[in-house]
Amino acid sequence: MGVQCWSSFAVLFFRSSVFLFLYILIALRKIKMVKFMQEENGVEKVKCLIIGSGPAGYTAAIYASRANLNPVLYTGLQMGGQLTTTTEVENFPGYPEGVTGPVLMEDLRRQAERFGTDIRFGIVTKVDFSVRPFRLTVDEEKQVLAEAVIIATGATARYLGLPSEERFKGLGVSACATCDGFFYKGKEVAVVGGGDTACEEATYLAGLCRKVYLVVRKNYLRASKAMQERVFNTPNIEVLFEHNTKELYGTDMGLEGARLLYKMGTPEEKEVDIRIDGFFLAIGHTPNTAVFKEYIATDEQGYILTEGKSTKTNVAGVFAAGDVMDPVYRQGITSAGSGCRAAIDVEHYLAEL
Ligand code: NDP
Repeated sequence: MGVQCWSSFAVLFFRSSVFLFLYILIALRKIKMVKFMQEENGVEKVKCLIIGSGPAGYTAAIYASRANLNPVLYTGLQMGGQLTTTTEVENFPGYPEGVTGPVLMEDLRRQAERFGTDIRFGIVTKVDFSVRPFRLTVDEEKQVLAEAVIIATGATARYLGLPSEERFKGLGVSACATCDGFFYKGKEVAVVGGGDTACEEATYLAGLCRKVYLVVRKNYLRASKAMQERVFNTPNIEVLFEHNTKELYGTDMGLEGARLLYKMGTPEEKEVDIRIDGFFLAIGHTPNTAVFKEYIATDEQGYILTEGKSTKTNVAGVFAAGDVMDPVYRQGITSAGSGCRAAIDVEHYLAEL
């Protein structure tokens, strides 16, 4: 009796296991089939696709969603853009007490979502602007068709690439004097670069700081003559020609100084130590336009060219906003303004289709 009971239990157990196994197998196949069908048929079509999640992208999203354009926004790798790497933002209108970069960007994101923007984490890795609707590939895989596109991918500030520079980012190292200069009031700082940005930032900082070193790798400034004159006529700016930065030093509390090399790589090379609280990079920006280059006209630095006061690019239906098309102003608020203009341009474009 006992043996019979055990054998029927074993048969039952075996049958159930087989059923369970088959069930899992079918379920897995179904999931795979569904996925396959989505990839096969699910090429998504959107009216307005926004690429980038800085102030330009989110502002474009706010305006486009309020205009019932049902925008889809792909954030890019750094959700919230350049401002998420700054600490305090005091010059963005609407925040009388100031706001941190991450909080500002979170506010903008929530505002865009409030009106229905579909915000997705993803990177546009390929575009085909030769077909209508435009065909975009996200994360090398997903295909999206878009009637209109707003490029708001921003620009990336260049850094020297020193490990010590990484260590003091946000603790003395900054790539934006207009954003962070105020925190160095009455202190000594250095600006690296010899172009218009470096001269402009050095002059701006000289109005706030006790002393500004302008660290220039060549024996001349690349900046315009007018800008150079402003630098040379400002008594608290000291230009250090032919100096390269070797390393930065300090404590966990912040930056304390920089070791420079005068005439690096020559027999006259010598180390120069400067005591500074702030180190500002002004060695240029790289606009994030590589993926669009085949279709979209840019200037020689890679900034997208737009038509007159509009945000229209050379491809009808593709618009550009923010730092990706602005080598001059590069502020959060100017980016937001051009994002607004891009959404209005898209609205007009779609209405005329
Ligand atoms: P630029 O490319 O003109 O200048 C970059 C500067 O950084 C150069 O002096 C360059 O040195 C230096 N540099 C680059 N790499 C390094 C490095 N690794 N170490 C040390 N120094 C380095 O960039 P800007 O941002 O100054 O200007 C960009 C454009 O925007 C320009 O066309 C400029 O005229 C424009 N602009 C106009 C303004 C205005 O009109 N008000 C204001 C700001 C910018 P080197 O000379 O040796 O190559």
